[in-house]
Amino acid sequence: MENTLAFAQKEDKNDKLRAYRDKFYFPQLNGKNVIYFTGNSLGLQPRTTQDYVLTELEDWASFGVEGHFHARNPWMPYHEILTEKTARLVGAKPEEVVVMNQLTVNLHLLLVSFYRPTKQRYKIMCEAKAFPSDLYALQSQIKFHGLDPKDALIGLTPRAGEHNLRTEDVLAEIEKHKNELALVMFGGVNYYSGQVIQMKTICEAAHKAGAVCGFDLAHAAGNLKLQLHDWNLDFACWCSYKYLNSGPGGVAGVFVHERHLKNTELPMFAGWWGHDKATRFKMGPDFVPMETAERWQVSNAPILSMSAYKASLDIFDEVGMDALNEKSKKMTAYLEFVINEVNKQVGTKEKYFEIITPAERGCQLSVVAHGRGKELFTELLQAGVISDWREPNVIRMAPVPLYNSFEDVYNFGQILLSLCTKS
Ligand SMILES: *Cc1c(COP(=O)(O)O)cnc(C)c1O
Repeated sequence: MENTLAFAQKEDKNDKLRAYRDKFYFPQLNGKNVIYFTGNSLGLQPRTTQDYVLTELEDWASFGVEGHFHARNPWMPYHEILTEKTARLVGAKPEEVVVMNQLTVNLHLLLVSFYRPTKQRYKIMCEAKAFPSDLYALQSQIKFHGLDPKDALIGLTPRAGEHNLRTEDVLAEIEKHKNELALVMFGGVNYYSGQVIQMKTICEAAHKAGAVCGFDLAHAAGNLKLQLHDWNLDFACWCSYKYLNSGPGGVAGVFVHERHLKNTELPMFAGWWGHDKATRFKMGPDFVPMETAERWQVSNAPILSMSAYKASLDIFDEVGMDALNEKSKKMTAYLEFVINEVNKQVGTKEKYFEIITPAERGCQLSVVAHGRGKELFTELLQAGVISDWREPNVIRMAPVPLYNSFEDVYNFGQILLSLCTKS
């Protein structure tokens, strides 16, 4: 690798996915595309999204309630046209996934079914530094069962002086708590450090201990090649506005392993959209659950939000996670290289930028800014680089394979260098 414009442009020229960049809108600064490294926070808008949403608005205008059956994409089964592609995206069987609601809502609905504490087995293991919304969900579910989160929630922290959890330590903790664990639930990719958790290994250990295992894939869906069915997770959920570009607050996704789908004993919070669709409109008083992940649906589907998701999902299905993964590895390695080149040139004794993301990663790099932090982040923004700041001193950057370029990465390095070396 070389820290030169020529090298970056050569990589872009050889990039099989280069045409996809033009399928997205980039925010502009002084008439130029910004360098957008926050696809892990809110993905960019595909140029096709407006058409997809407009189609549904037009059909609503044309058909009113009849659109449920007569819209170009009938609304009644609208979520079903998302199912196969979503299943391919996360490595699941179609009956194991459903697109519905939003992430934290779905997490609650799944916890109702899969966190079933008993007198002896009632603890939940997670990362101490999980995304706050997940912690709030877990704490409140624990309280909902009349238990005390201080006792029932086991939050794992990295070893002193380290930034990431070691798999061996997670496994040892599971073993240590094996008689009291009800649930093991981690983020598939830690939102702060970008570490990819070893889902298959941890799931196996959780099951061996007699616990249920689920993952929050907010930072994994559309970022990693997932094999949710084969990894044997019990459940997973993710949002789609990050790597999956469904737009702010976009509709979210759920996975439930097929072995649970016919288990009528599972407690759940039900609604009419989870009722067997053959008899749903008989409007009977008794709930007859569907035998797919659709069973967890509560309300009828948010069509406008789903149509926006569909625009991006169609792109993902066309490209495939294998191709994205291949480019992601290369481009993230290039960003790492460029940051290290900046470090060499900045030449302070204390390394300026310490990458805390381990080798097990997707496309996000989290960097501790040992010199100037927040101020530098703001200057980056003013220079047209949108990255993400996390207290106390971490800058997160995600060069997204679908629309970022090697030239973005090179230009970022030049801007960073100029900000670090200015008098
Ligand atoms: C982004 C994110 C959320 C956000 O939750 P919403 O319900 O979509 O607002 C929750 N958990 C994790 C791990 C996230 O990364």
